[in-house]
Amino acid sequence: MEPIIGIDLGTTNSEVAFVTDGQVTVICESDNGIVPSCVGLNGDGAVIVGTEARNQAVAAPERTVMSIKRKMGTNEQVALGDHRFTPREISAFILKALRERAQRHIGKPVNKAVITVPAYFTDTQRQATREAGEIAGLEVVRIINEPTAAALAYESNNPENRRILVYDLGGGTFDVSIVRIEEAVVEVLSSTGDNRLGGDDFDRRIVGHLLEHLKKETKGTLKETPQLLARLKMAAEKAKITLSTAPFAMVEEDHLCRSDDRDVHLGMELDRETFEAMIEPDLRRTMEAVNRALKDAQMLPSAIDDIILVGGSTRIPMIERMLEEKFNKQPRSHIDPDLCVAMGAGIQAAREMGLEGSGVLVDITPYTFGTSAIGEIDGVPTATMFVPLIRRNTKLPATRSELFYTVQDHQKAVDVRVYQGEHPEAEDNVRLGNYIFELTPAPAGSEIILQFDLDLNGILKIRALEKKSGKTIDATIENAISRFSDDQLTETRHRIAELWSPAADSTLDDDLTEASMEEIPETYAALFHRAETLLADLDEDNRNEIVDLMEDIREALRENRTADAEALRSELDDALFYLEG
Ligand code: AMP
Repeated sequence: MEPIIGIDLGTTNSEVAFVTDGQVTVICESDNGIVPSCVGLNGDGAVIVGTEARNQAVAAPERTVMSIKRKMGTNEQVALGDHRFTPREISAFILKALRERAQRHIGKPVNKAVITVPAYFTDTQRQATREAGEIAGLEVVRIINEPTAAALAYESNNPENRRILVYDLGGGTFDVSIVRIEEAVVEVLSSTGDNRLGGDDFDRRIVGHLLEHLKKETKGTLKETPQLLARLKMAAEKAKITLSTAPFAMVEEDHLCRSDDRDVHLGMELDRETFEAMIEPDLRRTMEAVNRALKDAQMLPSAIDDIILVGGSTRIPMIERMLEEKFNKQPRSHIDPDLCVAMGAGIQAAREMGLEGSGVLVDITPYTFGTSAIGEIDGVPTATMFVPLIRRNTKLPATRSELFYTVQDHQKAVDVRVYQGEHPEAEDNVRLGNYIFELTPAPAGSEIILQFDLDLNGILKIRALEKKSGKTIDATIENAISRFSDDQLTETRHRIAELWSPAADSTLDDDLTEASMEEIPETYAALFHRAETLLADLDEDNRNEIVDLMEDIREALRENRTADAEALRSELDDALFYLEG
């Protein structure tokens, strides 16, 4: 039987799981199976993945990439030494390492996988994940939402009928879903979250706190170099993890940098209370999402039987406290919160292999998909009224169609815009693409049927039909993130194979430090976040300009050209101010 593996492709860590003899296991290689989602080039120019890459992050940030999942679906180029890669190519390196790990374990070639993504991932992000799989030589037979996978893992241990709230807070994303398990059928009733919230943000808040302290100590002479920030990020994460089990943590870093011709050392205590006050606004946001998920599922907190904690950040005790207060019951975390999603992916992979028939997966869309048309919003005429076709929380696969009319005699074409979002004004939603449909000349009022097909992997297909002639109209995609042609795929695979070293899937070593690094210094992160939030709404020219500016800033930071970086930062700030207006 052809093996299918389950992969949790995480922001911080990734795992691969496989079912053997009816038991799902996360594949370990003298480690705990947790592979840091980190890719680097070693001194010889070969690609390294996992712990080995993570360990060089501080020493060689210019040759190391972390948290690439946050950029999935964007066209942003990531530099690794002299090479430049797209986010999906970087993800492909991680997937390739996991695939090879699985092959060593199973002893057979592995060509198929189930991959999990946050429920909040957009269509473009899901497509990029699928393409990353293809580059890594994996046919992605199914993409499932992480909370669904977590519930699947849970369900295999608990066969009772239950309503479960899955609270998943990882390194870079937050998801909350309400899942119903009845007669072994897993159904997602609602799903919401924030794909830019997680443990990395908590680290950043601690870094800000440490920097404030250091600036006072050095009387404002401190230079925020990438190396300094990388070390602080590492220290911050370590302190954060300590605070999950201890009331305070000592942050001690000797010879951090030089300032005013003096060595700068850091030695300060961080207590849990201070840390909790720092992250309280973030956690409050997660609880607002919990309320939204309940509302969408039309449930009161008392209707929830169980709360499952998923993701490394849920080890923070304050999270359990907040949930317990709201639901009057203690969240469960008996399945390792780091491995829960991978195990669910493994169970789904086994189902795809036909190995297990104990449950059927019912998935939903967390977004509304629609188009724009001339209409009225609150009585005011507009050319861009949002017309939903597939509403959020609709069961997948879903097919919906709507009838539209041309407005002019002999209209040559219609520009069908596809949006994702909930706002009545279409332009306030995320525009996924433009499809130009060329029409046969006809009087105004000709009928056009627009059909949306959303499959279980969240891939959206659009079809337009001219009702009178019965002809299906060819679509031209504008502004869409470029998809792979076969040639491009071969070329990219080639490029990646050339850089691949057999040692790429490194094993974990318990003695190694908890290294982690954010590529963007804290002071730039907020600006980059603003820019990234805006990118999807910009036209191609503006988007290119913003992406170029961000890249130039990164380059300046990498090369320690602080003055250049500052000047570019102000330019980006101005551009955003103009574009946001
Ligand atoms: P994940 O994306 O699920 O792998 O979660 C990774 C995140 O969990 C990172 O931000 C880690 O720093 C964080 N994390 C791991 N262990 C702990 C812990 N004991 N306490 C707090 N955060 C943790």
